[in-house]
Amino acid sequence: MARSIPPPPKGGRRIPAPLCEVPGCTESTRERKPFCTKHVAEHGYVRELLAQLAEVDRELEAIRRKGSSAVNVHGTTAGDLLGFLAENGPRSLPRLARDLNLPVALVKSFVTALSRAGRVVTKRTERGALRVELQGPAVANPSQAVSANRRRVRSA
Ligand SMILES: [Zn+2]
Repeated sequence: MARSIPPPPKGGRRIPAPLCEVPGCTESTRERKPFCTKHVAEHGYVRELLAQLAEVDRELEAIRRKGSSAVNVHGTTAGDLLGFLAENGPRSLPRLARDLNLPVALVKSFVTALSRAGRVVTKRTERGALRVELQGPAVANPSQAVSANRRRVRSA
């Protein structure tokens, strides 16, 4: 033992501080917490949100592989789609996909499943596009329907 070897820095090799698990957040975390200081305050809410996002990811991935049979008509994305139609009125399939920021093929799978479940109806427009419309007990919140109708009238 000639020369003393300097001890490795505390904690071993330097590992870059882990990043906050909230998508899009670039803050690093402390004390091996999953979230940055800002987001750790919203811990419960964030966890729920992340779980929901993970579930949506799993569902979308399953739909890519298996098509409309993998759609959960009571899931978050289906709910978003129905909510959007309730709020904004009927939409063509491509427009709906654009508005929801999802690929057309994916939205088509949702529309197929929701149509089987009796939640939406589809019609061909004169131009050959598929028009998607809510069906049945349409809106949970009637005041929303009224304001959506007003908007439609005003913009017509
Ligand atoms: Zn964060």
